[in-house]
Amino acid sequence: MPGLDEKLRDIHDEVLRRNPGETEFHQAVHEVLSSLGPVVAKHPEYADAAVIRRLCEPERQVIFRVPWVDDNGQVQINRGFRVEFNSALGPYKGGLRFHPTVYLGIVKFLGFEQIFKNALTGMPIGGGKGGSDFDPKGRSDGEVMRFCQSFMTELYRHIGEHTDVPAGDTGVGAREIGYLFGQYKRITNRYESGVLTGKGLTWGGSQVRPEATGYGTVFFTDEILKARGDSFEGKRVVVSGSGNVALYAIEKVHEFGGTVVACSDSGGHIVDERGVDLAVLKELKQVRRGRIAEYPELRGGAARYIAGGSVWDVPCDIALPCATQNELNGHDAATLVGNGCAIVAEGANMPCTPDAIRVLAEAKTVFAPGKAANAGGVATSALEMQQNASRDSWSFEHTEQRLAEIMRGIHDRCLETAEAYGSPGDYVAGANIAGFIQVADAMLALGVI
Ligand code: NDP
Repeated sequence: MPGLDEKLRDIHDEVLRRNPGETEFHQAVHEVLSSLGPVVAKHPEYADAAVIRRLCEPERQVIFRVPWVDDNGQVQINRGFRVEFNSALGPYKGGLRFHPTVYLGIVKFLGFEQIFKNALTGMPIGGGKGGSDFDPKGRSDGEVMRFCQSFMTELYRHIGEHTDVPAGDTGVGAREIGYLFGQYKRITNRYESGVLTGKGLTWGGSQVRPEATGYGTVFFTDEILKARGDSFEGKRVVVSGSGNVALYAIEKVHEFGGTVVACSDSGGHIVDERGVDLAVLKELKQVRRGRIAEYPELRGGAARYIAGGSVWDVPCDIALPCATQNELNGHDAATLVGNGCAIVAEGANMPCTPDAIRVLAEAKTVFAPGKAANAGGVATSALEMQQNASRDSWSFEHTEQRLAEIMRGIHDRCLETAEAYGSPGDYVAGANIAGFIQVADAMLALGVI
């Protein structure tokens, strides 16, 4: 495998052998291992204690049946997952994804990424992830509720505020977290607020949690710009997706003086040269749960809809992929570079393929990996846990300020670590190495467990 030294290559090959067919997990492991050469050279103690090999093996993996009854009285069967990857720094923490593409390889890639992301936040949280191949799209509220109740009827025995604390991800928003929390409370007879994050404001949620991932990605990008004496003012920005992360990334870009000229969903993308109208988009996506194809009509014809195609064909200064994994490939990256795009920051998890990352690196386009740039969501989840533990609730301004500080801290730590390990300016190396060292040191301290 190119780019890996011998010891790391052996570990990588072992991961491939032990986890056949889990291509996204393989990709995530390769991406981290490819940064660790200088670390293992400097710290032989990590190899002696098999820290990396232990890190690549989840502490626990749960797979379960989720039976439920649809509105027509038919029994439906889905599969549920929770991968509790690493708890060296704190209880497992990471979202639940409900999407038809979910299988063990996706959950493990997300859980693996989550370990390093959570470490980077500096908060006491380990890494985990879960979900189901259930597709909430087109399902009634009653069907979503019955599915969530059945899912939690198994999951409850594996989670807890000191054990494992799930949150939302694709397909899991405030509605689903509500149904999940309700069922947990009913089964356990405990109002254990800290068992889930992403809760509603009136029942234990935190200000800024819905906004946190998108806002955090833009705060991180703003730090990149500031480090170059620049700002969002006057910049053309393209954001992919139109879900939770994308909507709030768009909001913050506009607040910072940039203009988001395009966004998308899985059907296609829209181009709105005057800037995406967020009120229209939020009504369409959050209230009506509609398709992006309807946006131009709601905008009075001011925008164009392109079915299929690639949102990355739209020229921009800054690209924020906020939809899903592997949505921006080498060809897209070459198009962005050709159009003069200077920064690509990942709001989603692993949206750029390895080819895309290579093209961006060759062109010296700044690339911020998701485990650093989108860590604002989980960081604010940890702030929600803090508020739950102290039965407190903070103001929007205070919470947002904490989020901005955390993102600045992650940015600076990435740059300092990259510099210390011989890759100045490389956010990928900085994020992987800084996250790894924090977890690895805790694993050494806790012994071989
Ligand atoms: P949502 O389900 O709210 O939104 C996902 C959006 O991406 C939808 O607009 C969806 O469109 C679109 N999409 C999905 N697949 C494609 C595709 N192939 N091409 C174009 N658009 C697509 O999810 P989130 O916003 O919560 O999550 C988005 C990403 O961010 C994921 O990678 C997630 O893991 C990551 N993330 C999320 C966090 C959070 O706090 N929510 C935290 C950190 C990372 P459609 O409706 O058509 O499917």
